[in-house]
Formats: sequence, structure tokens, C-alpha cells
Amino acid sequence: MRGAPAAAAPTPGQVDYRLARNSVVKEFKRGRLSRLDVCDAHPELLRAANGLGTPADQPCPICEDETLVHVSYAFGSRLPPGGAAFAGAAELAKLTRRAGDVACYVVEVCPACSWNHLARTYAASAARRRRPSSS
Ligand SMILES: [Zn+2]
Repeated sequence: MRGAPAAAAPTPGQVDYRLARNSVVKEFKRGRLSRLDVCDAHPELLRAANGLGTPADQPCPICEDETLVHVSYAFGSRLPPGGAAFAGAAELAKLTRRAGDVACYVVEVCPACSWNHLARTYAASAARRRRPSSS
């Protein structure tokens, strides 16, 4: 993917939902799904998209007007039932320090038309403790 950090290695346990997403887009283009069916982002999700979303460098497949943003959520036993939205690796590290192993869900959202779909999921766990730093 363009714009991805060069050091990003494929994450073990990552599941890509592009196929499911593309078939929804196809159904929409064929007229089998309406905008009401596919552009149903929850207000909470839109809020997270505006506050914590990272630009996905990809136009919205529905309105083709707006750049998509990715919103990441972490789910874990010590996190809120609706998941904890986070932005960036540092915040994820903070969450895994608190909650241990978490499941991360990346949702693509269009802030303009409210299109949303799961993009991918992956597992994250707290970074292994290193030798105590000499500070
Ligand atoms: Zn859109």
C-alpha cells in the first residue's frame, strides 16, 4: 500500500476484509443496495473518524468524492465493551500495556456520506519487556 511505513511487516493473524467490502460496493453499483443500506455509519463512529481517523489515501467507493479515513478500535477483556478507539502505535502500546492481548479492528469510514466497512482485523499484544533501561 502506498504511504505505508516501509518497516511494516505483515502482521500475524491479520485478516483482510477487502473482498467482503468489494462485494458490498459491487452490489451498490449494481443498484441492489441503496445508499441507506451502505452509508449507515453510527454517529459515534463518525465522531471517532473525525477525531482519530487517519487518512486512507483512497477515495470513498460510494460518493467518490471524499478521502476515506481509517478508525482503529481495540477490544480486550479490560477495555470498554464497545472497544477503545485509538490513533497510532503509541496509543495502541498504551492499551496493550493496560489490557494485555487485544483484538484490533480497522474500519474505513467516509466522513461525507457515512459509508463504513471493516477493513481488517489483527491481534496485538503488549511489547515484550526489555531489560530495564538504565536511567
Ligand atoms: Zn463517501
